[in-house]
Amino acid sequence: MAVVWLDDVRADDLDLVGGKGASLGELTGAGLPVPPGFVVTASTYRAFIEDAGIDDELFAAVEVDHEDSAALQAAHETAHDLIMETPMPDDVREEILDAYRSVGEGDAFVAVRSSATAEDLPDASFAGQQETFLNVTEEDLLDRVKECWASLFSERAIYYRNRKGFPHDKVDIAVVVQQMVDAEKSGVMFTRHPSTGKKEIIIEAAWGLGEAVVSGTVSPDNYVVSRETGEVETATIADKKTMCVRDEESGETVMRDVPNDRRHERVLTDDEVSRLLELGELVEDHYETPQDVEWAVYDGEVYMLQSRPITTIAEGDDGEEGESDSGGSSRATATGDDVLIRGLGASPGIASGRARIVTKLDHLDQVAEGDIIVTEMTMPDMVPAMKRAAGIVTDEGGMTSHAAIVSRELGVPAVVGTGDGTKTLEDGEIITIDGDKGTIREGEEPEEKQRQPVEEARPKTPVKPMTATEVKVNVSIPEAGERAAATGADGVGLLRIEHMVLTLGKTPERFIEQNGERAYVDEIVSGVREVAEEFYPRPVRVRTLDAPTDEFRQLEGGENEPREHNPMLGYRGIRRGLDNPSVFRLELQAFRRLFDMGYDNLEVMFPLVNDAEDVLRAKEHMREAGIDPEKREWGVMIETPAAALCIEELADAGIDFASFGTNDLTQYTLAVDRNNEHVADIYDELHPAVLKLIGDTIETCREVGVKTSICGQAGSKPKMVQFLVDKGVSSISANIDAVRDVQHEVKRVEQRLLLDSVR
Ligand code: PEP
Ligand code: MG
Repeated sequence: MAVVWLDDVRADDLDLVGGKGASLGELTGAGLPVPPGFVVTASTYRAFIEDAGIDDELFAAVEVDHEDSAALQAAHETAHDLIMETPMPDDVREEILDAYRSVGEGDAFVAVRSSATAEDLPDASFAGQQETFLNVTEEDLLDRVKECWASLFSERAIYYRNRKGFPHDKVDIAVVVQQMVDAEKSGVMFTRHPSTGKKEIIIEAAWGLGEAVVSGTVSPDNYVVSRETGEVETATIADKKTMCVRDEESGETVMRDVPNDRRHERVLTDDEVSRLLELGELVEDHYETPQDVEWAVYDGEVYMLQSRPITTIAEGDDGEEGESDSGGSSRATATGDDVLIRGLGASPGIASGRARIVTKLDHLDQVAEGDIIVTEMTMPDMVPAMKRAAGIVTDEGGMTSHAAIVSRELGVPAVVGTGDGTKTLEDGEIITIDGDKGTIREGEEPEEKQRQPVEEARPKTPVKPMTATEVKVNVSIPEAGERAAATGADGVGLLRIEHMVLTLGKTPERFIEQNGERAYVDEIVSGVREVAEEFYPRPVRVRTLDAPTDEFRQLEGGENEPREHNPMLGYRGIRRGLDNPSVFRLELQAFRRLFDMGYDNLEVMFPLVNDAEDVLRAKEHMREAGIDPEKREWGVMIETPAAALCIEELADAGIDFASFGTNDLTQYTLAVDRNNEHVADIYDELHPAVLKLIGDTIETCREVGVKTSICGQAGSKPKMVQFLVDKGVSSISANIDAVRDVQHEVKRVEQRLLLDSVR
């Protein structure tokens, strides 16, 4: 038997039908309305490769060094071609086609979805890794099934399994073939409030197919329904500008504008809400745990497309506060007389350890586990030592300096901009640093008073708050990707590539001269991929290089960099990329490679643009690198007053999003160098002038349909969060340690806005 019907499948058939097939079968068996269909079993795939004798060749081909991107690409191509070029046995073809002809009227549009047998294994989530094809008919069906088989060997899948040490021959793949529900409306439903666990059903609904809601391209209506009374407690009707539909001609899924009279119309009728409530109760009872359900309405019927448990973020979380003291009283001692020196609290936490004055890179090996690094300014080469350290102290730098950014991502407490820490503190003395207050005291704090980075010490709510404004996270060092993804953020709002480039120890030009262009592209591919992989399918906004010349000067080859009086106002960001595109082009080629590898969650962002001309030129480079600006999400940073004031022209140039880089926008608006500790006290991201530029830009962007975001350090500040959510920003990207607080702050402001609107 090459196929089994969903009616005959149960949850424990995972080995036969994969995770998706088993879950759909279980729902069908429980009497829930699931669109009819069948599964081409995992053993059909296994028999196909074994009977044709391509199995050994297939598994040998994918045993490659997964960090070698050329080898990975070749492995994928070999595996894909082997599967696609090997004919399917006649009996299997007939069985699949016979089954298809019994679905619907025999000429149905079907969805063809991969369902890998390892899909739902703990810690090996393959979700989103394999292909899905919508609106398939008989003509393409067999090829699509084979494409699903071959997608077990996409570059991403090979990379993922190799990295996790998961043997290739232990994963099989089944294929679900299911009647398409040509949804008039669709969405998601949580059978409990996902943050409070309260007994109410939350429904999000929009016009058309569910892709638009699931991928977040449309703001859906939101309904909160009491499970006790069945009453709709609140119904928030969104302005639904676009919808996802099946194109009558091509059968493909396309985005369309919602007709004007339906944009503000309520999507769900009371009857549909009642039916969803009934199904929600049934599915939760069936699984005995709260569920997150995808549903669709077609011809007056509500169908269930998928159901998953509502997952918690923190594994093994018992909801207790933990041992460490998170109250203010213990830290009060840090303001006592024993303060040796002060700076800016740049990465939260309290730590004690032996001060290690690091003046030259060759002293780094003297930094032992638990020491506190004291240095003028951190450099990318210091990262391994920073990982060993209990804390970091620098003479120079502000909240957005390298030391501050990297310490936060590593979760190491840090105080920056102390002025003369390297002179005041003595090598070997025991000190305690407070990364919140920015103090350094003599002596050791008792173990129980030392404090881990906030997110570890903070009591964890079981699930993240559901917010309409997305909350994302900033990442600068690829190794922090895993920690960043564990915050439950909705994606990466800024992935900087400066760190990846500066750790090469050479300027990009010198590195390319010595190692070739391909090696440079490979370095970027490998760093960006690590993060894109951790987050997939959540979006990751990667930015082209933006390092000032004074940072390049410290590297090999740096002697060729221009000498500038004001590097912050100089040859950096997009202006450098456009003036001398040799390196910029390669970065875009790296992004193109990643798109080709299947990382369709990447978005491209350009730094430090001033006007439409910058944007149009950058867009042309993107095209030349083979990235279609019409198909990919791309946008710009708003870091100069010029960019904020020219936002209409930037929108006309075709950007999908604009992201406020308040680190730079503040320094350029107030004429305050962001890295100069002498003027740190007047560096104020909440200055009315900065807020006016941001507020006006959001207003224009909302009018012209451009998404807005913030990825500067200020996005982690509650006051800025309040301001932005009030203004209607689309997303906020925060530091790893701040994500959870920002999620709650956003939720609070959104709820206040909702209440204000009904009072
Ligand atoms: C910014 O300017 O706010 C920003 C996020 O970019 P960077 O800190 O890398 O200059
Ligand atoms: Mg910037």
